Amino acid sequence: MLYQRTVAKKVTVTGIGIHSGKKVTCVLHPAEADFGIQFKRIDLGNVDNLRACAEIVGATENNTTLGSGENAVHTVEHLLSVLYGLGINNCFIEINGPEVPIMDGSGASFIFILKETGIATLNTSKKFMVILEPVEVRLDDKWAKIEPAAQLIIDSTIVFPHPIIKTQNLEFEFSCENFINHIGRARTFGLFKDVDMLKRRGLIKGGSLDNAVVLDDYKVINQEGLRFKDEFIRHKILDVIGDISLLGHEIAGKITTYKSGHNLHNMLCRKVLDTPSSFQIVSASSLEKEAVQAFELPRALAPSFH
Ligand SMILES: [Zn+2]
Repeated sequence: MLYQRTVAKKVTVTGIGIHSGKKVTCVLHPAEADFGIQFKRIDLGNVDNLRACAEIVGATENNTTLGSGENAVHTVEHLLSVLYGLGINNCFIEINGPEVPIMDGSGASFIFILKETGIATLNTSKKFMVILEPVEVRLDDKWAKIEPAAQLIIDSTIVFPHPIIKTQNLEFEFSCENFINHIGRARTFGLFKDVDMLKRRGLIKGGSLDNAVVLDDYKVINQEGLRFKDEFIRHKILDVIGDISLLGHEIAGKITTYKSGHNLHNMLCRKVLDTPSSFQIVSASSLEKEAVQAFELPRALAPSFH
């Protein structure tokens, strides 16, 4: 049996928002089974919780935003990716600003914090969204597709006119362990010449070499270099997992993306949810072994019973 998970106890995470440049604090609380992931803006008074689901995504330019107008939380994708990557499907997140802290531009800090906090198992089976038929979305030459598979596989391609990036492709077979070792530490990236333009538009005010890989016309500017030779495509897969987790369940299906971004990932989620014949929600107990085994946690993260 594969059970739902939550955080073992309350934990506080503080950092700066990459777009606002302002300090922000998130408090992650344990939650009961089937609660899902829900954010609450505690700086706004009495506002509704924002449930992490594709239908309430309000913006997808340079980040994924839950909600719209004032009651919104920006840049949720890396934290959501780590929660999915560790099999944590229930968590109540209080946040005192409009944006999840960027930390080092990857999921590494969230993984570290959750490792220290511990993961608890709840007494209810996980539910999977099993993909039954292909669904595809396109935008110019970019596309994303999901199709049936025994477990979550992500095959992504990025094409960037830069000598260090060029075309990168990776097929990633999801497991918690693979996520921690190969995807979680990959940082977001950007071109130095875009930084000025984005800053003038009021974006990435908090962006620096501490929270992104930055490239000039020829090379990586960060003194420490890259964490993986193909860190760029690994980060794309981190983003895909965070955005696709907004389907609301663990996924048994293969996702293929070509030059995709947050908007395309959200379009894919919405099209799946709008196509009831494309999926079925089942209890983990009725799934093939590999889909369940993928959620085994490495010993250092072994969950306690809640
Ligand atoms: Zn990202």
